[in-house]
Amino acid sequence: MMKCPYCGSEMEEGVLVSRVVPEWVKKGEKKGTLLNCIKKFTHNELPAQCCVKCKKMIIDI
Ligand SMILES: [Zn+2]
Repeated sequence: MMKCPYCGSEMEEGVLVSRVVPEWVKKGEKKGTLLNCIKKFTHNELPAQCCVKCKKMIIDI
């Protein structure tokens, strides 16, 4: 279990789900890099930890 770096609460484990693979695009740049999703038949999953209190999410890229 991961603790939230903002409030110290236990973060909820889960996945961010999307049909398309999300891309990280650095500020000021046009070209991005695809994030390392787990590919499923109809969607992609990106492992993530979520703090519902702070509304913050930590994702594995
Ligand atoms: Zn928090």
